[in-house]
Amino acid sequence: MLRLYKFLKPFTAMVIGVVIFVACQAIGDLYLPTLMSDIINDGVMQGDTSKIFHIGGVMLLVALGAVICSVLASLLSSKAAAGLGEIIRSKVFRKVESFSLHEFDKLGTATLITRTTNDITQIQTVTVMIMRMMINAPIMCVGGIIMAYRKDGSLTWVLGVSIPALIVVIAILATRMMPLFKQVQVKIDRINLVLREKLTGIRVIRAFNTVAKETERFKEANTDLTENYIKVNRIMAFMMPSIMLIMNFTSLAILWFGGLRISEGSMDLGALSAFTQYAMQIMFSMIMLAMMFIMVPRAQAAAVRINEVLDTVPEITDQETVREDFEGKGYVEFKDVSFSYHGAEEPALRNISFAAKPGEITAIIGSTGSGKSTLINLITRFYDVQSGNVLVDGVDVREISQEALRSKIGFVPQKAVLFSGTIAENIKFGNDNATDEEIKHAAEVAQAADFIATMDGGYDHEIAQGGTNVSGGQKQRLSIARALVRRPEIYIFDDSFSALDFKTDAKLRAALKKETQESTVILVAQRVGTVMDADRIIVLDEGSVVGMGTHKELLQTCDVYREIVSSQLSEEEIA
Ligand code: ADP
Ligand code: MG
Repeated sequence: MLRLYKFLKPFTAMVIGVVIFVACQAIGDLYLPTLMSDIINDGVMQGDTSKIFHIGGVMLLVALGAVICSVLASLLSSKAAAGLGEIIRSKVFRKVESFSLHEFDKLGTATLITRTTNDITQIQTVTVMIMRMMINAPIMCVGGIIMAYRKDGSLTWVLGVSIPALIVVIAILATRMMPLFKQVQVKIDRINLVLREKLTGIRVIRAFNTVAKETERFKEANTDLTENYIKVNRIMAFMMPSIMLIMNFTSLAILWFGGLRISEGSMDLGALSAFTQYAMQIMFSMIMLAMMFIMVPRAQAAAVRINEVLDTVPEITDQETVREDFEGKGYVEFKDVSFSYHGAEEPALRNISFAAKPGEITAIIGSTGSGKSTLINLITRFYDVQSGNVLVDGVDVREISQEALRSKIGFVPQKAVLFSGTIAENIKFGNDNATDEEIKHAAEVAQAADFIATMDGGYDHEIAQGGTNVSGGQKQRLSIARALVRRPEIYIFDDSFSALDFKTDAKLRAALKKETQESTVILVAQRVGTVMDADRIIVLDEGSVVGMGTHKELLQTCDVYREIVSSQLSEEEIA
């Protein structure tokens, strides 16, 4: 956790302010019982009203000062802690943005969300506590003991008994509580995961009638967390009465033995009253310290999880000096590329070599799981190759910056993703500077203009979160328009026509052809009809290229291709 506190640097002045105010408040609080005893001894016992008012006035001022200091300390510590939270959150966020897909595969979304929200809140809360108590408690504890001793040295032995008793009780309970607190974070992660899956999969869950099962799964995670909290609270419930018991016995002992000393005449009433209050102050400060010992490990656990994110080195980063000396129209070349996912036994791609030239359409066809999307992910550098080279305009994609690489690419993913916002905003996502004209044109080419016109608001129609209020085919066409408006050198369509009917598919490809005349087009598809008139068709099977050429050539040379074709087209269509 200390490591995270380096981010407190911009708030150094505030932290120093907190320290000063907290110290002033503690000193004020320590001074009050002494003033109280003066009122009793010099005012009440002597019947001197003016002294009572005089010292009473001073007491009021000191109390007021302490309250003001306390308010200021609260204000500053909250501000500093909130600022710290903001900085850590943005650091974590930026780190996560730099992650490659591999890190997402490894960590998972649910825990990344809890780490950026709940864990950081944890740190924030504890930081306020630390700033307030870390300084206050020791001053009150040591100061209280000194002041109590000065009031009456011989009564201090009472504290010598009750303070160790308090420490023992707190230590026993705290050691039982700490492991429970540490588990809370992990259990919240679990709830988050189940809840996310449930919410995103709600249609599937309903359709398969597994609502009850999902509810059970959530209940399990929920009960688990609840039980954990109950256990914590049970210990807490035990803690408070035991502490109160010790404190009350302490008061009793002080009054008892103090009373004896007063009747002996060796102690006065004011000293006894002050002594009692100091004893309470000391014990309260010990409880505060104990709370810290309980809270800090929990924040520590959160800090470890945050540091884990901050320390993750993204697998894919830009080289220190990126090459900018490449020029071209988006020439893509694979040279003997092999790739396997982490933890996978079989490579997903084996010895792939091909070239996709500007002005041509390169199609990739193959059964599901043959590695088509994987191949595409290597061009956009979502993953890095294990051997071989992926070249764009003659330069290895690892040698240019990711931003420069991706600005060349218009990518339409297999699973169309839209963002909440209007249709126009979603298309504009591809190119911030796109004019209304360009947006309209892109929509027309993508065969989206017709259905946009029928929606109320047209281009200002609001897309719901996750694009749930448009159909799969509409989503695909909007994400095609988004890529078109970018006017990239390389177009990548990963199975982007699968949800379209044959007629729309054909119209779209005809319109696209005009639009992409100068660009490199890489088009993944399942349908033979979609790839038939491509300049080059690459046939993938289990991660290897088993055929390459035009439709006609492949019909002659490639068995796998012939199989795919005969399963989809009738005899006369093939001829
Ligand atoms: P296609 O797009 O041709 O249907 P993919 O390229 O998506 O196929 O997948 C190729 C192979 O890689 C499959 O066997 C799949 O199980 C595996 N695979 C895909 N994505 C991942 C991933 N993120 N982690 C591990 N294995 C993966
Ligand atoms: Mg795929």
